[in-house]
Amino acid sequence: MFIEFISRDEQSQNSSEIINTEHQPCSSKKKNFKVNKKGEPNVVLIRDYCPLTKFGIFGLKHSHNLPRLCTKSNNRRRYLYLHLTHFHRIKSSIANKLVKAIRDGYDPMETIIFPQDNTQVTDENLPCPFDSSATKFNQKNSIPNTPCTSSLNYHYFKNHLRTVHSITKLNANLILKAMRKVGTISHVQFEEDLCEID
Ligand SMILES: [Zn+2]
Ligand SMILES: [Zn+2]
Repeated sequence: MFIEFISRDEQSQNSSEIINTEHQPCSSKKKNFKVNKKGEPNVVLIRDYCPLTKFGIFGLKHSHNLPRLCTKSNNRRRYLYLHLTHFHRIKSSIANKLVKAIRDGYDPMETIIFPQDNTQVTDENLPCPFDSSATKFNQKNSIPNTPCTSSLNYHYFKNHLRTVHSITKLNANLILKAMRKVGTISHVQFEEDLCEID
């Protein structure tokens, strides 16, 4: 039996109503999360293994056309929300629910989060890599107008990097390539200063 995922924020107090009793959340694992005002861990700061290693997980189907899945062998603990939105290009609303379900210990094979109709689950846009997680680049290189929360169609992506963040042409090409391929710029070897500032 599948259960439909309702995040803890959306639930009324009686959360046991939506939990399949055979699959109790394994929230006994203590994790050191930073918490928000409600005492819950901030979704963006939650680190865990990526669940998206096979179809069937949280209702994931072939027809969702995810650009890629993770493999069990490469899997490691990472900032899940960023990984899901950058690497798997999952829409932020769905990524948010996925992270909360993992945080709350929902069984991935018994819980449906991916919409089962034809709703698009991926974001066609690329997130600007100089978001609040890119402190390494933003601080070290003093990139203008960061952190940046833009999400961009890839046709405008390089233009955005060049005009908003003063990234050099060569590096804008490297960044686009990395974002399309792996969803992060953390391993890119930049060959010159990132920005050209007059
Ligand atoms: Zn993954
Ligand atoms: Zn930007």
